[in-house]
Amino acid sequence: MPGYNFPRLPVRAYIPAGDKGEFVSRPRVVALREFAPSNFLYYEGSKFEVYKTRVPAGGIDRDYQRVSVCPNCGYFHDGDNSLRDTCENCRSRLVSDRNGNPAKLNRVLEMGTMITRRRERITCDEEERLKYGYNLTTHFRYDAQNRETATVAAADGTPLLKLTYGETAKLWWINRGSKRNQERGFKLDGKTGLWGEGNRQTNSAIDSSLPTPEVHLLVQDTSNILVVEPMIALNETAEAFLATLQFALERSIQAVYKLEDDELCSERLGQGRHFLFWEAAEGGAGVLSQLLKPQAFQAIAQAALDICHFIHPKQSCSQACYECLLSYRNQFDHPLLNRHLIRSWLEQLTGSTVSYDRPIPRDAHYQQLCAQVDRHSLFEQQVLDAIYQRGLKLPDAAQALIAEANCKPDFLYRSQGIAIFCDGSAHDHSDQQQRDRIDRDNLTYHSNYSVFVLRHDENWQEKLDFLATLID
Ligand SMILES: [Zn+2]
Ligand SMILES: [Zn+2]
Repeated sequence: MPGYNFPRLPVRAYIPAGDKGEFVSRPRVVALREFAPSNFLYYEGSKFEVYKTRVPAGGIDRDYQRVSVCPNCGYFHDGDNSLRDTCENCRSRLVSDRNGNPAKLNRVLEMGTMITRRRERITCDEEERLKYGYNLTTHFRYDAQNRETATVAAADGTPLLKLTYGETAKLWWINRGSKRNQERGFKLDGKTGLWGEGNRQTNSAIDSSLPTPEVHLLVQDTSNILVVEPMIALNETAEAFLATLQFALERSIQAVYKLEDDELCSERLGQGRHFLFWEAAEGGAGVLSQLLKPQAFQAIAQAALDICHFIHPKQSCSQACYECLLSYRNQFDHPLLNRHLIRSWLEQLTGSTVSYDRPIPRDAHYQQLCAQVDRHSLFEQQVLDAIYQRGLKLPDAAQALIAEANCKPDFLYRSQGIAIFCDGSAHDHSDQQQRDRIDRDNLTYHSNYSVFVLRHDENWQEKLDFLATLID
C-alpha cells in the first residue's frame, strides 16, 4: 500500500477543572461541532460551555480569510481565487447554494484552541438550540499536479460514472452557525475572543464595541479523495436515487476492500451530484486509487447488489433496512433511501470498465504545440511562450485545419470555440490584410468559432489577460 501519512493535529479545548485545568482534544471535524461556540461539553460529571477562543498575539482580525465555495460541486477557493465569479472545477456561478448558504464568506477563521467555563444549568432556550445542531458544509480542492480522471462505462459503452481521483487533496469543513433561526456564522469579539452576544453584558465595561458578526469557523485536512459523479438524467427521483447510490457505493467499497465503516467516508456535495469519498483513518489504506483499475466497479456492483438483498432476497426489507443501507450516520437521509431505485443501474455496473481520461502533462503538451507552430512566424512562438509562462490553459491545437471554413487558425481552444490568429509583421501588408479578413469572416460564418486576433504591434500581452477570462 502507498503509505501516505498526513499529520492530523487535533483541536483542543481548555476545561477549567482540577488545579490547573485540563485540555481535551478532538479530531478536527469532530471539534468543529463539539467545540463550536456556545456548545456544551461534559467533563467528569460537570457541564462546560465553550465561550471564548484564544486570541493570537497579532489579534484575531488578521486571521480572517476570505473564501468562496461552489454551490454545485463544493469546490473551495481561497486567496485571489476567492474573488472568482465561476467555479474553477465545474464552472458553475458562485452564488448561494440550494439551502441558501452564501458562496462567498468574508470572515472565515481557522478553528484554534477554544476555552470553556463551567455552567451549572442549561436554560430551556439553550437546550432548544443544541437540539438543532450546526450547519456544516464540506469542501475540497485538488492538488493541481495530482489528479486523474476516468470514466466508468457499461458494457454497451453507456457512461455511468465520472471519477476524479485526487492524491493529497485538501478538504475543508465550515461551521456556518447554529441551524436554529438559520443563523449565519457566529458573533465574535475580536479583542477579547468572546463568542456570541450573551457575553456582552458581563464585559461591557471592558469593551463597548460590537462583536463582529458572521464569523465562520473552518477546519482543514489533507487526504486522498475520489469524487464520483453519476451520469444520470435529472428527474423527480434523482435526489432519492443519488442518496441511495451514495450509501450503496460507500458500503460496497468498504465490503470489497475490507474497511471499517469509519475508515472510508462519503458525502454528497453541493447539488448532490458530486459524491466525495475520502479515507478518514490516519495513514489511509490507499484504496481509492485502486478504484481506477479497469474492473474495479464490477466487484463493487456485485457487492452492492448483495448488500441490497438482490442476490439473497429479504422479504421484510421493503425499501431499506439497517442490514442494507440504513445507519445511524445517515439518519437524515433515511426517507430518501430506496434500494429498488438503483437495481437496474447496478446491474449495468456489473459489466463496467474504467478507462482513464489521461491528460497530457503540461510540458509535453507545450512541446507538441511548439512542433506544430508555423516555423516562419516568430510572433506565433512568442504568443505560445507567453501563454505557457503565464500558466494559462494551453490551446488544444496549433495550425489545425477547420475543414468547413477551409481555414487554419494559429491556435484553437476547441471547447471554448476560440480561434486565435497571431498577426506578425507579415500581416502588415494591405493585400495580406484583405486575405485575412476574408478568411476570418469565412470562419465565423461557416463554423462555431469566434475569432481572436493578436497583433504584434499592439499591447497583445494585455489582450492575453482578456483571453485568460475566456478560456478559464
Ligand atoms: Zn463547482
Ligand atoms: Zn435491507
